[in-house]
Amino acid sequence: MGAIDLHARASADFEAKLAETQRLLVRAAAEFTPLKQASSLGAEDVVITHLINLLALDIPVFVLETGALHPQTLALLERTQASSRAPVEVYRPAPEAVVQFVAREGQDAMYRSIALRKACCGIRKLEPLERALAGQKAWITGLRREQSSARAEVPLVDHEDVAKNGRIKINPLANWTWGDVWHYIQANGVDYNPLHDAFFPSIGCAPCTRAISLGEDFRAGRWWWEDEAAKECGLHVKDTEKTTA
Ligand code: SF4
Repeated sequence: MGAIDLHARASADFEAKLAETQRLLVRAAAEFTPLKQASSLGAEDVVITHLINLLALDIPVFVLETGALHPQTLALLERTQASSRAPVEVYRPAPEAVVQFVAREGQDAMYRSIALRKACCGIRKLEPLERALAGQKAWITGLRREQSSARAEVPLVDHEDVAKNGRIKINPLANWTWGDVWHYIQANGVDYNPLHDAFFPSIGCAPCTRAISLGEDFRAGRWWWEDEAAKECGLHVKDTEKTTA
């Protein structure tokens, strides 16, 4: 049984949520430019990219190709680049930084300590993210409130980082359920990562992502060897959490 069969169940108010999401994307394209969509090529992100293309919005999409993604994710990246009307940009880590880190700490450094895991995320994700977002007024993410307790209060438009980096974060699926996401994918024939059919709800780097079992928490498959409180890569961590993580 695939992810669509397992999960596609629209909320009673799905059509209203979809209309709200579409209005927000159209408004963002008009008001918050320049802006880009950050895509991990996970289920939420392929929905947003599909909407950007459907609405013919001038919003580029970017993917952080960390050098540690699954082959299935790389294949979806190629297909997305070929099919997307919106440009799909790929940002990679600085090769020398990766080579030096791996030579010094080994391929499996992320399992040895949270500090080493965060150092790896810093090199492979955060530095390329800063390059991707340089000069942007806003960015679009696939964060949803339902994803974890740390994301339970994600707003549709988040101004919290404006004072720090001048950027607004737009979360057009903040109110969507997992069932809504898969309902949209099914109803619109959206191409998605086949890892979702193998019980990977959250798509990340291969060494740090595993399948989950029925009943496990949505993000249980990410950095599963760490405490729940430390489980963000830094892309969406708030300052108050950074000091304690
Ligand atoms: S998720 Fe894992 S492999 Fe990817 S950058 Fe972070 S520590 Fe490194």
